[in-house]
Amino acid sequence: MWQVNPLDFILEKELTRRDFLKYCAVTAAAFGLADSVVPRMAEALGSALSKPPVIWIEGADCAGCSESFLANFNPGPAEIILDKISLRYHETVMNASGSLAESVLEDTYNKGQYVLVVEGAIPTKEDGRFCTVAGETFAHLTTRLAQKAAVIIAVGSCATYGGIPAACDLTGAVGVSGLFNGQMDGKIINLPTCPLKPDHFVATVLYYLTEHKIPPRDRYLRPTAFYGMLLHDNCPRRGHFEAGEFLTDWNDPNQNRWCLFKKGCKGPWTYTDCSLHQWNDNVNFCIGASGPCAGCSQPEFYAGFTPLYAEQAGLPVANAAQVNVDTVGYILGGAAVAAVGLHAVGRAVTSGGKDKGEGGDEK
Ligand code: SF4
Repeated sequence: MWQVNPLDFILEKELTRRDFLKYCAVTAAAFGLADSVVPRMAEALGSALSKPPVIWIEGADCAGCSESFLANFNPGPAEIILDKISLRYHETVMNASGSLAESVLEDTYNKGQYVLVVEGAIPTKEDGRFCTVAGETFAHLTTRLAQKAAVIIAVGSCATYGGIPAACDLTGAVGVSGLFNGQMDGKIINLPTCPLKPDHFVATVLYYLTEHKIPPRDRYLRPTAFYGMLLHDNCPRRGHFEAGEFLTDWNDPNQNRWCLFKKGCKGPWTYTDCSLHQWNDNVNFCIGASGPCAGCSQPEFYAGFTPLYAEQAGLPVANAAQVNVDTVGYILGGAAVAAVGLHAVGRAVTSGGKDKGEGGDEK
């Protein structure tokens, strides 16, 4: 067990190369990394002192965003942790615990100007007592750390808009912007989706490291580079939507690739690049795997988009059950265009249109 703060140890003490490598070995072990990374870590840590440190905290969540981050391919998580950022605190990844872990957190907090990553919603009812970390409510921890952060990255649907924890409203769960009633929006970057899309996080961090500023965002504080396009506008099934071909029977092979609107697809309301830059190193995305879009990049997710597997209520389509499926297609096409402000009416999008939707009111 370290008897001194390891950051002070490395920053303020004169280290021999042997001591330095020993520190790297301890750190590698703390993060569960192989011994072979120690030389690279020593090199990276030497230059990391000039990189903005990163604190990653978790509240009301399932750790799925951490899992997603750790599943990133290019670059991989070890490369990100070692080469691109100086990750000081991450409850799920680090092996360190207790006073050691908390001392690193406090040291980084005291110095300020770090990147604060928030995963999970923030319960606010009953003085936030539904979620505590090391005896401190998550609401208080987030508030405290946010004050000295250079930038705050809210990852996943829960940390951005409350997500699933906010749906039941038992704990008063909110996202980061909601916690501060918009007062911190100037330095908040929202990266919704459930879970976090890892390339969104990596690209955002690299952008910040390179440009030293927050990327252009839309009205929901999302980078327009990733959320400036309507999923429905770039969906490989859009041609079937236009043709009025809607999947209604999962067991009918003829309907296999048809539009999933009647199975609850939220694509007509959802701004995300999921269809253009797909998940797991561009392997696939929900609709490609025959799962209707749940709208997880939108503030409406989860409560506003339930039930997930039924046609979305509220779309202005009257008497849909009394018209034939082709007519429904034309009516829905017109209604969706009105609802989301599409420009290209009736155009075939099966090739993947390039038009952008109107979710991108830049800040
Ligand atoms: Fe694709 Fe969903 Fe739009 Fe159908 S409703 S075209 S499945 S995004």
